[in-house]
Amino acid sequence: MVIAKKKFGQNFLKDGTVLTKIIQAMPHNERKLIEIGPGLGDLTQELLRVKPVVAYEVDEDLCVYLRKKFSKEIDEGKLTLVHTDVLEVFTKGSLLNEPYDLVANLPYYIATTIILDALDDPYCHTIEVMIQKEVAEKFAAIPKTKEFTSLAILAQSIGVAKILFDVGPECFDPQPKVVSSVLKIDKQKMFVKGSMEGLFESKEQLQAFKKYLRNSFQNPRKTWLKNITSEFNKETVCGIMQNLELPITIRPHELSVLSHHLLFKTLRSNDARKQHTRDEH
Ligand code: SAM
Repeated sequence: MVIAKKKFGQNFLKDGTVLTKIIQAMPHNERKLIEIGPGLGDLTQELLRVKPVVAYEVDEDLCVYLRKKFSKEIDEGKLTLVHTDVLEVFTKGSLLNEPYDLVANLPYYIATTIILDALDDPYCHTIEVMIQKEVAEKFAAIPKTKEFTSLAILAQSIGVAKILFDVGPECFDPQPKVVSSVLKIDKQKMFVKGSMEGLFESKEQLQAFKKYLRNSFQNPRKTWLKNITSEFNKETVCGIMQNLELPITIRPHELSVLSHHLLFKTLRSNDARKQHTRDEH
């Protein structure tokens, strides 16, 4: 018998209806399929009915169990089981060196990091993941709501993010303390040869945009102007806002995804960083 390990975020999905709904919503195409954290293999089994799977599992005890359970599929080359920490794989690059879709019931303690890494991974096309409902709401949030922060802007810059359905704790063993949701992100922009189709010219620019978002949302209840002027020159920023006809009282969550991109690009082209201004004097 395999005992669930809390440290690896192991809550095994036991509800057949939820499994069916996940399979119905996954992309049915020619791309490869990756699962992160196959656990006891209930979702893996359903995925394998559709196509071959590459699965990353960190827990050696589970890998032993899965190698037995799926010995036939492994021998036939339908299931490739990789015993590793998936975050380490992302650190080195892509999860696969060809286009793939990700379908998984993620370990909640690292779900946000995995989604952000998958968004950056040029080979990942669609992300369909079960995560904590609160986190899913952040990725799928719409402007002007309090959930609309950096995660929504990043996800919605690169694709379309949607919550498909909620899943109660009773569907798992052991039961988590929170409600879960299945989130789907259809990526529409990819990094190809280092740049992302008109959005970012380089990976460095994407990192700069993430930094811009950290600054913009460092205190979400304050105005965007107050937040951003910790890094940028106030006079220049006010001038830019005036040109774009944005009220100086606007708060970061009230700006659309497009407005954030416009502000980021204008700030960069005006080179409005405070440091630069100080250097000139
Ligand atoms: N897919 C199974 C299911 O639906 O029942 C299990 C999901 S469980 C929420 C999360 C799984 O992710 C566990 O099998 C856990 O061991 C695995 N996991 C946790 N951290 C991981 C990591 N860093 N890399 C790869 N797998 C990880």
